[in-house]
Amino acid sequence: MNWFGKEVDEIEKELNSNIQKGLTSKQAAKKLEKHGLNQLDEPERKSALLIFLSQFKDFLIVVLLAATLISGLLGEYIDAIAIILIVLLNGVLGFVQERKAEKSLQALKQLTAPKTKVLRDGKWTEIPTANIAIGDIVKIESGNRIGADIRLIDAKSLYVDESALTGESQPSHKDPKKIFGTDPIISDQHNMLFKGTLAVKGSGLGIVVATGMKTEMGKIAHLIQNTVTLQTPLQRKLEQLGKILIVVALFLTALVVLVGILHGHDLYTMFLAGVSLAVAAIPEGLPAVVTISLALGVQKMIKRRAIVRKLPAVETLGCATVICSDKTGTLTQNKMTVTHIWAPGKLVEVSGTGYEPVGSFSENGKAISIDRSPELKQLLTFGLLCSNATIVKEKEYKLDGDPTEGALVVAAMKAGLHPSIRHNDYKMIHEFPFDSQRKMMSVIVENKRKERFVITKGAPDVVLANSNRIAKDGKQKIMSSADQREIERAVEYLGSKALRAIAVAYKPLLKSNLPTFEHQAESNLTFIGMTGMIDPPRPEVKEAIKGCHEAGIKTVMITGDHVMTANAIAKDLGILPQGGKTIDGQTLANMTVEQLNAIIEDVYVFARVSPEHKLKIVKAFQENGHVVAMTGDGVNDAPAIKAADIGIAMGITGTDVAKEASSLILSDDNFSTIRAAIEEGRNIYENIRKFIRYMLASNVGEILVMLFAMLMGLPLPLIAIQILWVNLITDGLPAMALAVDSAERESMQRPPRKTDEGIFAGGLGWKIISRGFLIGLVSLIAFLIAYETMPLEKAQTITFSTLVLAQLIHVFDCRSEYSVFHRNPFENKPLLLAVLSSLLLLVVVIYYEPLQAVFHTVPLHISDWLLIVGLSSIPTILLAGFNIFRK
Ligand code: ATP
Repeated sequence: MNWFGKEVDEIEKELNSNIQKGLTSKQAAKKLEKHGLNQLDEPERKSALLIFLSQFKDFLIVVLLAATLISGLLGEYIDAIAIILIVLLNGVLGFVQERKAEKSLQALKQLTAPKTKVLRDGKWTEIPTANIAIGDIVKIESGNRIGADIRLIDAKSLYVDESALTGESQPSHKDPKKIFGTDPIISDQHNMLFKGTLAVKGSGLGIVVATGMKTEMGKIAHLIQNTVTLQTPLQRKLEQLGKILIVVALFLTALVVLVGILHGHDLYTMFLAGVSLAVAAIPEGLPAVVTISLALGVQKMIKRRAIVRKLPAVETLGCATVICSDKTGTLTQNKMTVTHIWAPGKLVEVSGTGYEPVGSFSENGKAISIDRSPELKQLLTFGLLCSNATIVKEKEYKLDGDPTEGALVVAAMKAGLHPSIRHNDYKMIHEFPFDSQRKMMSVIVENKRKERFVITKGAPDVVLANSNRIAKDGKQKIMSSADQREIERAVEYLGSKALRAIAVAYKPLLKSNLPTFEHQAESNLTFIGMTGMIDPPRPEVKEAIKGCHEAGIKTVMITGDHVMTANAIAKDLGILPQGGKTIDGQTLANMTVEQLNAIIEDVYVFARVSPEHKLKIVKAFQENGHVVAMTGDGVNDAPAIKAADIGIAMGITGTDVAKEASSLILSDDNFSTIRAAIEEGRNIYENIRKFIRYMLASNVGEILVMLFAMLMGLPLPLIAIQILWVNLITDGLPAMALAVDSAERESMQRPPRKTDEGIFAGGLGWKIISRGFLIGLVSLIAFLIAYETMPLEKAQTITFSTLVLAQLIHVFDCRSEYSVFHRNPFENKPLLLAVLSSLLLLVVVIYYEPLQAVFHTVPLHISDWLLIVGLSSIPTILLAGFNIFRK
């Protein structure tokens, strides 16, 4: 369709839309029904049946099933059916684990689904991009990923990066004017925006002309490779470990079988026992439980308002040593209120809080009327004209727009100016939107006398640098160096009070001379004055910074604000210690990376920086061996977010570009959420260590009891089906319950984990082997004692019970880095339930008559149980005793 060649009102009619009011919800619903959701088709996912079948494709399982089949043919029906049932049960468990893992990952994807601002029923709302309908009127802002194919209605310095579609890396300038040529190529369609491209500068308004697979991106969707599931480094390491474990397990099992046969055991029985042992000893559940642990941990993080976009970040979080955080909105509330106004020779205080436009003005403690100070009135009027924010009164006064601008609007309203002058008394000719690099914004307005002005507002030093005149005592004059110093002193004064200063300047324009570029508009200005606005710190942040400090993590503030303002807030929050350094953007820009490296350990505040400086900061910290978390929200923050070990984007104020570059999103923009995420990150890693410790020690115990018995020339202490049963009960529920265990209280008092630290660090390998050895040993002792006086089947039942119980007691040990007494064993409810149900299953197998035949068990007496409980608790008692002794 040639949407580019039509006038906007033609399109409006054709698509049955309304530029002023947008679509109605009803219309949108109908269109969505007709054209489908605004989504690109995704490759089909693995079906449930396939996932279930894949549980049995394991080589050993196939061997086991074949062996079972043979035993069935030989007449051992009960054994054969029982083994098949257990293998099936095992498969179901694996299936449930894998599905759960997959589902939680899917849910995560939904959470980070992009949104778009659309005009529906006459109101601007943000909806999931998938719900955009043809004919919707949409707003595009710098940093947005374009959600559909759109014909522009209006654009303000809009530049779009279309490289995803055209390969052209230079952003293209957009302009709503109709195109006359026939069939221009995509990169020449300057009045069109395309799904999947990125607005990198400016803003715009448009009408949706194509959605989903009908968009230009949809046409090439099959070319785009998406959905790469990222494996975490730990998952990759565990995969390798798994391979090693398989070899070790197979070797040991072969040894058991060989020694058994040499000692005269029946070949077939040994083979079946051997294969069962191999199935049990190989921790096949490990990858699934790791994924579950990661996925469940991630869900816990979501409850704490941190959304993980890339799973590997979960692990890296636990290693973070530095958090570089934006100030405005993350450490502070981003609720600005003007408290001071400064014009040459005048400093006025403004009362009132929040966005309620009620307050008064005073100078030296005496109330004044703004109407009697034309220079202040002009300052407030121009501040209002150069702001897009609006204040709406609902239950309380609310801001729609940028808080800095909201503060200016409210201050003007306190002086009796009404926001409607922006269209009633003036005509807006053009706008150069704010960006963090220029630190300014300008508008060109025309008053009723048809006089035109540029009005600029922004960071005082930048506005000052672009002003050569000053408005003083009702007159304009050339700016002298004394004037400059006076302004600088005022900036410092406002900064020392932790206020953000915004300067306002202007210049008259000749009608014929309309500047097209920012630098033309924002030069040779006349400086009028400044406002100072307060932005209170978030109340919970101080505590979070302290918590990070205790956890060995340094917090660094990065801000576009003035050094004085930044320092005042950093001191208040406990970021800047005695002797800590602050560096400003100018100094930073002039430093080499080496120079920065040398001093960065002492730096706690970076003030007056531009987003592109952030990359240098990340690199310097990384070169000093730090693991860096860096926050950001704008388009220009993306490179630093990407380069950081943990890139963090703001959920509320963040642009799509920042979010897509990030690995973590703060859904409340709050610094304390970072601390919470780090805590969860550490916990997830600890939990993975917990169940690896549990699973592997259990497996070592199972192999050793068999190996010891064979070496001693004893009969089999456990038969095939018992081994499989142990594996099913212990590797299943208890291991999963460990995956959701809570953190140990010391978790956030330990220094961050080293990135190169292996999973078995801190003596974990030793803990696994020694405990596995003890579990094997006590089970063997149980067998020896019982076999002395009892029939073989009873001795095997006692060994079976001792092994299961020793593992179920061990699970509580695994919850602590120290010993079982370090934590309340009743804290983890799922674990208690898992252990109780495993015990119940054990009892059923021993006492329920029909199952006795299947599992070759016999009922036990109280005295037998005393022996079992006594022996199986020995390892835990030994460990606890050892810990007390060591203390
Ligand atoms: P921080 O870096 O602390 O998170 P920030 O992200 O708000 O703060 P920027 O938005 O880059 O920092 O703002 C940098 C400077 O630009 C501010 O200190 C202020 O002086 C000025 N400024 C901020 N918002 C506006 C605006 N809407 N119009 C004009 N100038 C602004």
